[in-house]
Amino acid sequence: MIIFDLICADGEHRFEGWFGSSKDYAEQQARGLLDCPVCGSKNIAKAVMAPNVGRKGNQQPAAVRPADDQPESRTALPVSSKVAVPVEYQEMIGKLVKVQETMLANSEWVGDEFADRARDIHYGDAEEKSIHGTASQEEVADLAEEGIAALPLPLPVLPPKSKN
Ligand SMILES: [Zn+2]
Repeated sequence: MIIFDLICADGEHRFEGWFGSSKDYAEQQARGLLDCPVCGSKNIAKAVMAPNVGRKGNQQPAAVRPADDQPESRTALPVSSKVAVPVEYQEMIGKLVKVQETMLANSEWVGDEFADRARDIHYGDAEEKSIHGTASQEEVADLAEEGIAALPLPLPVLPPKSKN
């Protein structure tokens, strides 16, 4: 999953788009599927990479995954209504986004099968590999008891396109 900051050439409106890969972005752009949520312009390009954490209510991500494609158990995130976002905060989140992308670059999304898959790998029933997905607090606690580490990710992860 890649987050691109996008910008429209007509009004210089910045907004955020989520894509499965750079190729996804290129395809959606080539097919004219991207448009500016502010003015509707189809003249969209990538802006300098930085998450738009101070998003206002009238700006929507360009390519949000459909709701039924998201994991059912989503962790509630602490949020603040403070509108003026310090630059340091934006930079920090930007770094966090990159760190998490790097962490997950060679990791397989396994959705809510995380606990089972982690167990298989731990006990040698499956090939050793890096995986990420969703797990309940109980599952994480059970894994910890069995000596299997599950690192909470700093940012929410949207599942890649379902393959069915
Ligand atoms: Zn615009």
